[in-house]
Amino acid sequence: MKTCQKCSCRLPLRKFPLVNGKPQAQCSPCLNTARRLRDPLPELGRDAREVRINNTFNLWHGPVSRVLLRSHA
Ligand SMILES: [Zn+2]
Repeated sequence: MKTCQKCSCRLPLRKFPLVNGKPQAQCSPCLNTARRLRDPLPELGRDAREVRINNTFNLWHGPVSRVLLRSHA
């Protein structure tokens, strides 16, 4: 067991990865969190269903709505 220097968790030694053969003071969850904060997220894939829903919504309720104005009818 070893205590992480960042989150103060008591974790088994297998949770502390070796980087360049040296044991780390931070646990792998802390290292993963730091990497996620540093690296940008991957681009979202295009979902055909979502595109269709967005197009339908924008056609019906978008800035160029086709709904007639009742006050002018
Ligand atoms: Zn930690």
